Amino acid sequence: MKVLKFGGTSVGSADRMKKVAELIPAGEPLIVVLSAMAGTTDRLVEIASCLYNKDHTQAGDKINRLEENYFQVVGELFSVPSYRKKGKELIHSHFEYIRSFTRDLFTMFEEKVILAQGELISTALFHMYLEEKGVPAVLLPALHFMRIDKDHEPDEFYIRENLQRELEKYPGKRLFITQGYICRNAFGDIDNLKRGGSDYTASLIGAAVKAEEIQIWTDVDGMHNNDPRYVKNTRPVEQLSFEEAAELAYFGAKILHPTSIQPARKFNIPVRLKNTLNPASQGTLISERTAGNGRITAIAAKDSITAIRIKSTRMLLAYGFLRKVFEIFESYRTPIDMISTSEVGISLTIDQTEFLEKIVKELKKYGTVEVDQNQVIICVVGDLIASNRGMAFRVFQALRDIPIRMISYGGSNHNISLLIASAHKVKALQSLNDQLFQ
Ligand code: ADP
Ligand code: ASP
Ligand code: MG
Repeated sequence: MKVLKFGGTSVGSADRMKKVAELIPAGEPLIVVLSAMAGTTDRLVEIASCLYNKDHTQAGDKINRLEENYFQVVGELFSVPSYRKKGKELIHSHFEYIRSFTRDLFTMFEEKVILAQGELISTALFHMYLEEKGVPAVLLPALHFMRIDKDHEPDEFYIRENLQRELEKYPGKRLFITQGYICRNAFGDIDNLKRGGSDYTASLIGAAVKAEEIQIWTDVDGMHNNDPRYVKNTRPVEQLSFEEAAELAYFGAKILHPTSIQPARKFNIPVRLKNTLNPASQGTLISERTAGNGRITAIAAKDSITAIRIKSTRMLLAYGFLRKVFEIFESYRTPIDMISTSEVGISLTIDQTEFLEKIVKELKKYGTVEVDQNQVIICVVGDLIASNRGMAFRVFQALRDIPIRMISYGGSNHNISLLIASAHKVKALQSLNDQLFQ
C-alpha cells in the first residue's frame, strides 16, 4: 500500500484535480489524502472569525462568494449533466450548513466544524469526478479513524485500529480517498491537526498501514536547500535523512508540516516529495539514509519566535536553577526550542506565547527577565561532523553584518541554530545561501 497526499495547489482548480486523477497509478493499492483547494482554509478562517465577532453580514458575503467559486469549479470539473447537478447539490449542502452558523450560537467548537468543510468538499468532489470517469474508488471519512488525544497528540492506536476496520469494510477495493487535516479530539468533537496538517495525516496513515511509501505531492520540486519564497537560486535536495527532514520541517520549511516526519520515521517508511506541476522531476527522497556527503544540506527559518532571558546572580552556585526554570514551562505546556546558558543566566526561545505573561511572572521569582519578540530561528542542517572544519566560520562570515541573539550548536550532529531579529531574516537567508551553496 502507498499513501499519496496532494496539497492545496495540487487540487486548487478543476484542471488541477483532473491532473491529479491522471497521476494516480491504476490498479495499485493506494490511500489518497487530499487537502482543501488552495485558499479555502484561509477563507473559512475568515468566515469563522466574522461569525465569532457576530459580523453576520460580512460572514454571509464571504460564504456566498466562496460558494460561487465552488459552483464554477463544479461547472469546469464535470462534463456529464447529472454529475454537474450532483456536484452543485453537494456544494449547496455544505454551504447551507456553513450558513446555518450565521443564525446559531458560535463557539470554538463550531469554528473547527467550519474549517473541516474544505477537505470534506475537495475529497467529495474528487471522488465524484473519479466516479464520472468510471474509476472505482472508496471515499473514506477521516472522521471515522483520525483522532487526537487529550494532549492533542495523534492517538496512534485508535487510528490504526479504526482505519483497519474501515478498510476491511471494502474487500477487493484498491483506491481509497480521504481527507487530510481533519480529525476528532478526545471528546469526539471535530478538530484538526493544525494548519498544513494534511502532510501529518498522510504520515499517520502511512504508519498505521505500514505503507511501503508516502508521497507528498506539492507545487515545488521537493525540499529546496533554502526557502524559495525569500531566497533566489535555491535548488531541490535529492536525498535527506529522516532527522534532517524533521529538523527542516520543525524549523520552518513550509513544504512539510512541522511534525509530519515523525510517524514515517518511527516505522522507517520512505517519504517522497514530488511536484504535481512537474511530475517528471526527481523530487526529494526522505529515508534512513543521508546524502552524508560532508556538506551543508539546507537552511530553514522559523518565524514568530519569542526569546526569554532569565538572569540570576546566584546561578553559578544554585544547582537546580535550570530545573526550576524548565518546570515553569512544563507546567504551562509550552515547548522550548533553543537554549543557551551562561554562568549568570539562561536564554531560551518559545513559539507558543499563550501563557507568556504567566510564565514571565513566575520566572521573575528567580531573577530578572527580559523578553524579545519578533525573533526568527535560522536553522542550518547538514552533515556537520564531516563539514565541521571551517563550517562555523562560513556561517558567521555570512552573518557578519547581522546581530545574532543566540546560537545553538552541538545538540545534534546535523543542526546549528541561530536566533536573529525577524527584520534581518531575508538578508540572513540570502547571505547564508550565497556563502554556503554558491
Ligand atoms: P501544499 O499546499 O501542497 O501543502 P505548501 O504551500 O504547504 O503546499 O508547501 C509548499 C511550499 O512550501 C512551496 O510552494 C514553497 O513556497 C514553500 N517552502 C518553504 N520552504 C521550502 C523549502 N525549503 N523547500 C521547498 N518549498 C519550501
Ligand atoms: N487545508 C489545511 C490548511 O490549509 C491543511 C493543509 O492544507 O495541509 O492548512
Ligand atoms: Mg502544506
